[in-house]
Amino acid sequence: MSFTVIRVRLIACGPTPSGVLEALQEGLSRELGVDAVLGEELPLTDKAYSRHRRQCLAEAFLPRLRESQEGRNPVLAVTDVDLYTPGLNFVFGLADPRSRSAIISITRLRPEFYCQSPEPELFRLRVLKEAVHELGHLLGLGHCRRPSCIMFFSSQLADTDRKGPGFCTECRSRLGNIGGAG
Ligand SMILES: [Zn+2]
Ligand SMILES: [Zn+2]
Repeated sequence: MSFTVIRVRLIACGPTPSGVLEALQEGLSRELGVDAVLGEELPLTDKAYSRHRRQCLAEAFLPRLRESQEGRNPVLAVTDVDLYTPGLNFVFGLADPRSRSAIISITRLRPEFYCQSPEPELFRLRVLKEAVHELGHLLGLGHCRRPSCIMFFSSQLADTDRKGPGFCTECRSRLGNIGGAG
């Protein structure tokens, strides 16, 4: 049996702590079997920034990612600015399956954000979970009702900590079908 390995481009948007993208690269190939490659860092622009909210509009990043995209391969950005989308106070990430581009924010994944002690392992696991979730969207999956599945929607960090990093059997089999169809 042969299948094409999906190549995912990882891009930092603005400064990110050292080692985060490399750990993600390794985690994504382990969890998803994708070939994750690191792209060039994109500088932040103030276009996405809302002075009033002190957050960036997640949607504003996606068109810029497409410039770094290789064909139809998924591109995933990682940023350390807090993201929002209209109607929500914040989002951990956003995916646009049509353009196969997504972004995650690592800001709210740090225990320090909640005045807790740093936990590098936990932080990296959360980053991996958010990345797998958004890539799941890029590969055609919607949200899953099972709280233990990575495709469950996280409205708070407790949801992220409860679930994944893997897919439930149903989501995994859907993913298999999508992969087979190219
Ligand atoms: Zn989602
Ligand atoms: Zn599921």
